Amino acid sequence: MTAYTPMIQQYLAIKKDYPDTFLFFRLGDFYELFFDDAVLASRELEITLTGREGGGTERIPMCGVPHHAADTYIAELLKKGYKIAVCEQVEDPREAKGVVRREVTRVVTPGTMMEGKWLTEKENNYMAAVAELDGRTGIAACDMSTGEMYVTSLVGHGESVIDEALQYRPKELVFCGLSTIPKTALPHTVLDRNEIDAFAVDVQYQEQAKELDVVMRTAVNALLGYIGTTQKRSLAHMRLIKRYDARQYLQMDGFSRRNLELTETIRDKSKKGSLLWLLDRTETAMGGRLLRRWIERPLLRANELQARLDAVEALKGDLLLRSDVRSCLDRVYDLERLAGRISYGNANARDLIQLRYSLEAVPELKLLLNETKSPVLADLAAGMDDCTDIVQFLQNALVDDPPISVREGGMIRTGYDEYLDKLHSASRDGKTWIAQLEQGEREATGIRSLKVGFNKVFGYYIEVSKSNIANVPAGRYERKQTLANAERYITPELKEREALILEAEEKMIELEYQLFSAVRSEVAQHIPRLQGLAERIASVDVLQSFATVSDERGYVRPELTETGEYVITEGRHPVVEAVLEREKYVANDARMDQQQRQVLLITGPNMAGKSTYMRQIALITVMAQVGCFVPAKSAKLALVDQIFTRIGAADDLAGGHSTFMVEMLETKHALQKATSQSLILLDEIGRGTSTYDGMALAQAVIEYICQKIGAKTLFSTHYHELTSLEETMSGVVNVHARCEERDGKLLFLHKIEEGRADKSYGIHVAELAQMPVWVIERARSILTGLEAGSTSVAAADMQMSLDMLWTAPAPVPAAVVKEEPTPLLSAEEEAILADLRELD
Ligand code: ADP
Repeated sequence: MTAYTPMIQQYLAIKKDYPDTFLFFRLGDFYELFFDDAVLASRELEITLTGREGGGTERIPMCGVPHHAADTYIAELLKKGYKIAVCEQVEDPREAKGVVRREVTRVVTPGTMMEGKWLTEKENNYMAAVAELDGRTGIAACDMSTGEMYVTSLVGHGESVIDEALQYRPKELVFCGLSTIPKTALPHTVLDRNEIDAFAVDVQYQEQAKELDVVMRTAVNALLGYIGTTQKRSLAHMRLIKRYDARQYLQMDGFSRRNLELTETIRDKSKKGSLLWLLDRTETAMGGRLLRRWIERPLLRANELQARLDAVEALKGDLLLRSDVRSCLDRVYDLERLAGRISYGNANARDLIQLRYSLEAVPELKLLLNETKSPVLADLAAGMDDCTDIVQFLQNALVDDPPISVREGGMIRTGYDEYLDKLHSASRDGKTWIAQLEQGEREATGIRSLKVGFNKVFGYYIEVSKSNIANVPAGRYERKQTLANAERYITPELKEREALILEAEEKMIELEYQLFSAVRSEVAQHIPRLQGLAERIASVDVLQSFATVSDERGYVRPELTETGEYVITEGRHPVVEAVLEREKYVANDARMDQQQRQVLLITGPNMAGKSTYMRQIALITVMAQVGCFVPAKSAKLALVDQIFTRIGAADDLAGGHSTFMVEMLETKHALQKATSQSLILLDEIGRGTSTYDGMALAQAVIEYICQKIGAKTLFSTHYHELTSLEETMSGVVNVHARCEERDGKLLFLHKIEEGRADKSYGIHVAELAQMPVWVIERARSILTGLEAGSTSVAAADMQMSLDMLWTAPAPVPAAVVKEEPTPLLSAEEEAILADLRELD
């Protein structure tokens, strides 16, 4: 084997430690990538792949990016979930003997980004670790940019673990001793860590970790160990570990969360159109992030919810006060991420000024909160440390409008540092002296047009136009530069002053940088105070956000019951209502309890509003359990421990399951885990198979829920036969989405009423979809036959169809006449119809 050149050997030695990472290897003005890295990077970044002799038998694949543009390429790779190790030359090439020494100075990974475009303001940037040990799974997650850290443990593994870990939407996942989770199901970078002992974990966390059980500790260690190897700097801003039990929150699986569109829509995964989008009237970035967390983790305990609801009520009732609170919050910057940058040492003077402005808003905020007379808000206010000492310190230390760069001076306020002030005045005095020089020299020489100027090459000079040269005092002025119609001179005194000024300025800049760094370090001592404040401000922000939406959209305070009673009067779907315009939305009641009305069996044609109704009930529950008011005239709600949904088209086709299989898996999931306190939404279970098969399954599922679980259940179905269950099973009640037939048109009233739908409107919907007239007519006659009791209807007489087609005018139902659209069709319905037509 031929030996590689020393440089390639160096490359390989370093690369060995970063096997799953792109190694950006500094070579002069470029970062170069070699071997497989180069092949992959050239493809991902669309840059040219070249090759180079490296001593081996073959040319080594290579590609490179200019060092000044590296960040753009790095960001591109991060977006695709890759990690990048940046390897720099750590000695001066002129002094190097042999190959220049190189070291990895930072590892950039999607989960550990601290700043920049990569971060979204109102979103956390989590990374997580999952560790499995003796049948338990520990999950730890942290956001490096805000310093938050959470840990929990679950019994067992499998789906619930994935759900829990993915709730954080981690940009990276670290695995530890894990065998059971199918890693293909997970996004982004995934790595295996088995040698946990090797991790060097911060002492601060070692202390805290003692409190954790072993599987949680393993997860935390794996997470911190990984962070430690990538971030070669302080983790001081990482907060205390927050331990929680997933069972203390309302639980939903990933599918249900997606399906209810809590934080993003199903269609395009955007926030717009989700519950989060609707409820987000937060003014601060940390409020926005907390709102998301609250929506992802609704509460179970009535007393905690009452506290939130009390606060919302207080803020909702006083518009003026609320708008004052909002404008106070508007002045608060992202304290959590500022704190992160301060402790990391990459905050600039503007960041500290933002911190100051934010803190300056706090005293007023506290006053306002006390005015609300809400004990909860008063408590929050009382707990807010307004950090007047830090404000004062920053006011004294920094000017109001410093530059972005920390290397140009102009940051420190006069009076903060004596020596700096001396330098300032030396520089100022020098400049005054020079300014006065002009006047003095004009008088001394009699040259009225004499000027004193400055340029970078010659420094200060005295300029005299050609016509006045005769009057220049030859002994005192020394010629320095000749221009077309002027001469420039210097004098020894001028140069002396100049030297003083320049020296002072150079010192000032250096001193300013030192002073600024010291200011930053001083503030960094108070990070926990800032974080505590940020948390309280975030809570206030979310509560005012709820109050604002509730007020503007006419929501009511839900009454939380312990008896299992669940009554919504004139409830609305919050998001559909917002999109539809208020007046158009038809409000609907819902009445359920533990005994008589446990399963609502919903019938009615497609498009009648069944699934909207089901979703509306789930969303009202979620809203109440995050402490928000709800879209209804009144609501008395039993607290729900879990929500299961099986609604709409399955979106796991890519996962290799058939639609029907997914349906069955999800239903099984609900049947296994639901309790009498759960809410189950099942939409047309069984439709994916033959009629009898499907109907039998549907009925068995209803019976199981009724008899074995006792969960509140909404069950929509097309099997009218099931409606007779009402008579035989206590707890099952029929409701239907009412439609009316007027002048041959089908009107969707979107009204949910008691009792079963009296007729199948499927043929009408087919008509709306502009099925061929022949099909419609034929279906009607088959239906009549079936309803009359015959099990099959003889094949149609084709002659009939011809007769029908040739009779003029053709019997086109009014509903399909284009010029006269069905009156109750919303834009959305039109869109759905358009889809249907396309399917034709
Ligand atoms: P189904 O599940 O019965 O097929 P959907 O719940 O999908 O029907 O509703 C169809 C459309 O009707 C929805 O897209 C929505 O725009 C509209 N809709 C549903 N419920 C209401 C309502 N209560 N008020 C107004 N429009 C509604």
